[in-house]
Amino acid sequence: TGGVCADMTSPRRFLVLINPQSGKGQALDLFNNHVKHMLQEANITYTLQVTERQNHARELVREADLSQWDSVVIMSGDGLLFEVVNGLMEREDWEKAIQTPLGVLPGGSGNALAASIHYYSGSKPVSGKELLVSCGFMLCKGLVSHLDLTSVCLASNQRLFSFLSLAWGFVADVDIESEKYRHMGAARFTMGTLVRLASLRVYKGKLAYLPAEESQAPSSSASSEVSFTDGSKSCLVHSSNSNCQDHCLHNSCNSNNAHNPNWADESPATSKGPADTLLVPLDQPVPTHWSVVKEEDFVLVMAVYQSHLAEDLIAAPASRLEDGTIHLMYVKAGISRQALLRLFLAMEKGTHLSKNCPFVVYVKVRALRLEPYAPKGIITVDGEVVEYGPVQAQVHGRLARIITG
Ligand code: ADP
Ligand code: MG
Repeated sequence: TGGVCADMTSPRRFLVLINPQSGKGQALDLFNNHVKHMLQEANITYTLQVTERQNHARELVREADLSQWDSVVIMSGDGLLFEVVNGLMEREDWEKAIQTPLGVLPGGSGNALAASIHYYSGSKPVSGKELLVSCGFMLCKGLVSHLDLTSVCLASNQRLFSFLSLAWGFVADVDIESEKYRHMGAARFTMGTLVRLASLRVYKGKLAYLPAEESQAPSSSASSEVSFTDGSKSCLVHSSNSNCQDHCLHNSCNSNNAHNPNWADESPATSKGPADTLLVPLDQPVPTHWSVVKEEDFVLVMAVYQSHLAEDLIAAPASRLEDGTIHLMYVKAGISRQALLRLFLAMEKGTHLSKNCPFVVYVKVRALRLEPYAPKGIITVDGEVVEYGPVQAQVHGRLARIITG
């Protein structure tokens, strides 16, 4: 991934968090049968913690003495990792805590980050147990890369940190409605998609974003043009640049922030973590240099920062762990059921963006705001339901670290 990798020297101590309810409810067995021996061979000792309820892991990492472990490993779906990321960001020492190398083992029904990491490694696509074994090997190798996190601000001023996605409309509805097909494992999304297609609807709202190109730092010495697998080119903020940016966010730049001097102080929930220097409060119009989408009728809006949305859904083939980019995609109302189905089928190979479907828009951004008009609905962050209403987000390059192959 081009990340700064440091070999972790043996022996290593892991905290392994397992959600026994994740996926088909077999995460603990899968760990014991497929991963345990691998870790032992690699001279890795671990403390196994089986979660007892939702937010157990979040509370645990919020309070834990993290110096005991070289890595915190999550054996579940993306939901448990979301808990861990936010638990770490809620700590007084969040800046240090979020540097704890995280590890992912796919044990859930939605294992998007695990699938993404496998994909970035360049290995041939696999799923299920093969993906688990691949991720197990990566843990044993122990190469650590940076991981971008996106801060998501909700209407109540609560701020969450997200590693995967922000979704509204078709995708968010499928994600939540398909919970009832959990026993099918990863196939639950295919099932959910087919069911939702039958009752396809339009979602009304306002979408605005800060394009990635516009927000480049004026001194471009640290950025360069990068080619993506889909043949497109983009100017990315390189590591040194985003480091500098992060540094500035934490220190001097906060007080110089012209748009938003007090954003970080407005609520206790926003006092931890880097300042959102690209955002203005939700009750103010977006900055004038943002792009406002003229359509207000959508079938879906999704902002993703990893390649995969599920084991077999490559939503953003160009995305990388630390590209400092939110890959924003939306589908405009008017698309036919057949075209939408074709789009999702193409997404299995990640070819949906090269189909030139006139209803699909893809743009690389640094920040975005979404204001749904209907009073009720579903918004998901990393596949988890969050407070419904206006929401905005900005990417924070290289905020976390993750073990990759
Ligand atoms: P899956 O991919 O199968 O959905 P997740 O890791 O996303 O697996 O977990 C699903 C949900 O279960 C998440 O909201 C997570 O916070 C929650 N959770 C974690 N541990 C437990 C537990 N022990 N019992 C019930 N729910 C849990
Ligand atoms: Mg989940």
